Amino acid sequence: MSADPHCIFCKIVAGQIPAKKAYEDDELLVFHDIHPWAPVHVLVIPKAHIASHADVGPEQAPMLGRMLALAPQLMRELGVTNGFRTVINTGRDGGQEVQHLHMHVMGGPRPWAKG
Ligand code: AMP
Ligand code: ZN
Repeated sequence: MSADPHCIFCKIVAGQIPAKKAYEDDELLVFHDIHPWAPVHVLVIPKAHIASHADVGPEQAPMLGRMLALAPQLMRELGVTNGFRTVINTGRDGGQEVQHLHMHVMGGPRPWAKG
């Protein structure tokens, strides 16, 4: 599986830096955002290094589908009962800060810090 030795999320996948994990399988990892915008805020990432959504092609459609399909189950398990928000920031103008594809999933009672 491809990894970038300088990528912070690849280091989380490799267990080189700690994260509070919420879900893991062969292809995906979910962990809590270190600076949450909402009472529940997790990041869903592919374990393989893909820099951004802009780098995704048709061959990644099943993986992206799995990322989206995981969100309802995750939110239920984390006690979110009243809806949630999914966000993928892409590239500089998209406000992406970490260059490893990730989907934010946020829920819990409002008001939230952002968005
Ligand atoms: P984005 O702006 O979409 O690239 O979001 C990157 C997110 O990663 C931000 O919400 C950060 O708080 C989060 N983040 C950065 N480093 C870590 C880390 N070591 N563990 C958990 N979340 C992180
Ligand atoms: Zn990476």
